[in-house]
Amino acid sequence: MNTLYYDCAVIGAGAAGLCAGAAAAGQNLKTIIIDRESHPGGVLLQCIHNGFGLHYFKEQLTGPEYAEKVTENAVKAGADLLMDSTVIEIKDGGKEKILTIYSGKDGVTLLHAKAVILAMGCRERCRGNLGIPGDRTSGVYTAGAAQKLLNIHGVLPGKTAVIAGSGDIGLIMARRLSWCGVKVKMVTEIMPFPAGLSRNIAQCLEDFSIPLRLSTSLTGIYGKDRVEYVTIAPVIDGKVDHSKEEKIFCDTVLFSVGLIPENELSKACGIKMHPVTNGPVTDSSSMTNIPGIFACGNVLHVHDLVDFVSLEAEKAAENCVKYVRNLHKGKGEDFREDIPVTAEGALRYILPVSCKKGEEASFYMRSSSVLRKARLTVSCKGDILAEKSLSYVKPAEMIAFTLPAEKTGNLPPGSTISFSLIPVNEEEKENENGKRK
Ligand SMILES: Cc1cc2nc3c(=O)[nH]c(=O)nc-3n(C[C@H](O)[C@H](O)[C@H](O)COP(=O)(O)OP(=O)(O)OC[C@H]3O[C@@H](n4cnc5c(N)ncnc54)[C@H](O)[C@@H]3O)c2cc1C
Repeated sequence: MNTLYYDCAVIGAGAAGLCAGAAAAGQNLKTIIIDRESHPGGVLLQCIHNGFGLHYFKEQLTGPEYAEKVTENAVKAGADLLMDSTVIEIKDGGKEKILTIYSGKDGVTLLHAKAVILAMGCRERCRGNLGIPGDRTSGVYTAGAAQKLLNIHGVLPGKTAVIAGSGDIGLIMARRLSWCGVKVKMVTEIMPFPAGLSRNIAQCLEDFSIPLRLSTSLTGIYGKDRVEYVTIAPVIDGKVDHSKEEKIFCDTVLFSVGLIPENELSKACGIKMHPVTNGPVTDSSSMTNIPGIFACGNVLHVHDLVDFVSLEAEKAAENCVKYVRNLHKGKGEDFREDIPVTAEGALRYILPVSCKKGEEASFYMRSSSVLRKARLTVSCKGDILAEKSLSYVKPAEMIAFTLPAEKTGNLPPGSTISFSLIPVNEEEKENENGKRK
């Protein structure tokens, strides 16, 4: 059995893993990036459309172009890449983590690392997750599987399609299939608002006159060998009205109904999971509850922009470097001194769930509903630390907020910071009622 020794092991060579690996290796940590696929880049490789990199590289790139640049950065910084290799176990040995890696070529390898960065991305929910009734026919794909089939293998998934769910991958596939001559009959969305980014609704549906049926459920998939038709029905007050069911003839169904962080490995090694994001709970240093194990990118929470993934990954790597250096000084365990952070009002979640006193902290959060105008307030024991007005907040669009170092420098011990998102109208109503000063 092979045995390898590294300062930092990064699991996953998508945008997150490559950017984290580049940053760690750039700070002279002996770093390895491991991926089960043959080529680095992760999901970027199948996203041949542009719209990547405007913030991070200050230019419009396609997914593969972005992947090429971040791979080049990681290699130039001195990170080793280990491809075609799947990490099957992480063992926490305190100051040393032991990864078990399997590859068809080398068999089992044990990798000893001082710190680990989790960057395994996420996977798609499928028909089975939703329990859609009907026949077990061919022609049913997740949107990402259809994207890989078409963009990487050059195979058209069908001729007439219905897309269930208005997530970004489904919207992008609606446009991609239309370009290839596939008739996309509609996109259905169970919620009264779309799940994907506004720009994708405009550029991928409206520009191609593809109807978006909001508050509509896909109730069944039928066909003998191949899909022949699906049934859809309106959702009224949260209930599917089967009496109004319609048949839509098609030979292909794509599901774009959400992503789940890839966390079997993390759970198995005892990492605490966040009940809303289904990714690890991390503090402001991107560290999980296991000292020395960090997380970033879609494995942590699902991102809509790769630029945020890259920035988050660099931050995780920066803290991983500090951790390894502290470990050398014998104080790896005393790494954190955190102030808890909570999400209130219309916020569905916030990450990280704590921050360090007197240190700048970047937070990412999502709303639970669509708000035309809202105010984000950061407070501690009734004192407002920071505020921001937001217009048109949607669950699909992540909110990023940086809390400057001086805002937390003087907070007394035992403080909790609360982030609250309040619809502006509601706030005005509360003002009228004299509840707020
Ligand atoms: C269809 C689609 C369209 C998008 N469009 C845009 C856009 O226009 N603009 C934009 O900015 N962003 C876009 N994004 C978002 C962005 O691409 C992603 O958020 C980002 O690339 C995710 O990077 P990641 O590294 O977290 O995950 P991934 O790219 O998924 O990488 C994870 C890697 O981990 C590997 N892995 C997992 N488990 C293991 C294991 N046990 N052992 C070894 N390897 C493992 C996987 O093989 C994979 O390569 C889009 C995403 C999708 C899916």
